[in-house]
Amino acid sequence: MKPAPFDYHRATCVRDAVQALADADGDAKIIAGGQSLVPVLAVRMARPKVLVDINRIPGLSMIVPVDGGVRIGALVRHARLAEQTAHPMLAEAARWIGHAAIRSRGTSGGSLAHADPAAELPVVAAALEATIHLASPRGTRTSSAADFCVGALETTLEEDEMITAIDMPLPQRWGFAEFSRRHGDFGLVTVAAAEVGGHWRIAVGGVGGVPVRVKEAEQLHDSGAPLEKVTAAAVAAISPGSDIHASAEYRRAMTAEFVRRALVQQKERAAA
Ligand SMILES: Cc1cc2nc3c(=O)[nH]c(=O)nc-3n(C[C@H](O)[C@H](O)[C@H](O)COP(=O)(O)OP(=O)(O)OC[C@H]3O[C@@H](n4cnc5c(N)ncnc54)[C@H](O)[C@@H]3O)c2cc1C
Repeated sequence: MKPAPFDYHRATCVRDAVQALADADGDAKIIAGGQSLVPVLAVRMARPKVLVDINRIPGLSMIVPVDGGVRIGALVRHARLAEQTAHPMLAEAARWIGHAAIRSRGTSGGSLAHADPAAELPVVAAALEATIHLASPRGTRTSSAADFCVGALETTLEEDEMITAIDMPLPQRWGFAEFSRRHGDFGLVTVAAAEVGGHWRIAVGGVGGVPVRVKEAEQLHDSGAPLEKVTAAAVAAISPGSDIHASAEYRRAMTAEFVRRALVQQKERAAA
């Protein structure tokens, strides 16, 4: 199948992009890397009247230091994120995204906006309590990562809004562990663990519609509890479903193991 016909608007700046979204009365889609949107268009699961191309907007591909972390522009490609050294945890997570071709086009903003429950960046954003910068014709606002993702492929983005950047705090220590059948596949279970401001935050992806923060496990880890207690608390906090990829029971078992690996990994890295 081919996409249904659409008009194409190449935005010159953020204001132009969000105005084009507003002018289409909810019948427009931003296209960034196109890695998730184009397949959806091709099978006509989406039939927007207008595609707003943001790829030529200047200033959205930056990675700059901000207080306590880095600001990632919405158009930063996964490949660049994997290569940068300013935020090692993000670099590690980006290396797990798809294959080289996908990483060379896919963007940070696109990954968060698409909100795939198995995607890596939303899990890291949840663990780091990232701040998402949004623009619309009405002005700008910020959203916490936790408030932004509300369900599988569902966010609080308004029809005339776009992501411009994401602030990712820099953790003192961190771990990232993912289980997928083959390298490059979406993760069945993805765990991001980060120590920020002396407290651990642990987010698990692939076990629900949105990344799950396992708060009791975090507190146990902060208090120095044995890893078995921490992983048991993490498993108790999730309610995964069964699908063609894995049963709920399997995902629970993988969560215990990959929370353990993420936390063991951080200890090794901290000691290195
Ligand atoms: C074969 C294959 C394997 C993949 N494997 C993985 C994987 O293992 N892990 C993973 O995380 N992802 C994976 N992906 C998805 C990939 O990471 C995409 O790049 C990402 O999900 C979307 O980014 P994009 O820039 O391509 O967005 P697009 O496809 O251009 O857009 C996706 C959605 O986000 C919206 N959007 C894009 N940018 C913005 C913005 N700045 N503001 C508001 N809305 C915006 C679009 O309107 C659209 O609804 C895979 C994709 C393919 C095709």
